[in-house]
Amino acid sequence: MIKVDLAVGKMFVFLSKEERGLFSKPKLSTIDAFVCPQCGRTELYASTPDIFVDK
Ligand SMILES: [Zn+2]
Repeated sequence: MIKVDLAVGKMFVFLSKEERGLFSKPKLSTIDAFVCPQCGRTELYASTPDIFVDK
């Protein structure tokens, strides 16, 4: 698997999770994308999956 960029135009794509509460900002994570150079199979991973864990 080789690491590639996941982008819309020149902007990167983020995963976003809305937080409850008036002043909280949505949690954002970039996405790590990997492509198999033989068959093109693509896998996506949150770069910082820990931010989506409810504490
Ligand atoms: Zn493959």
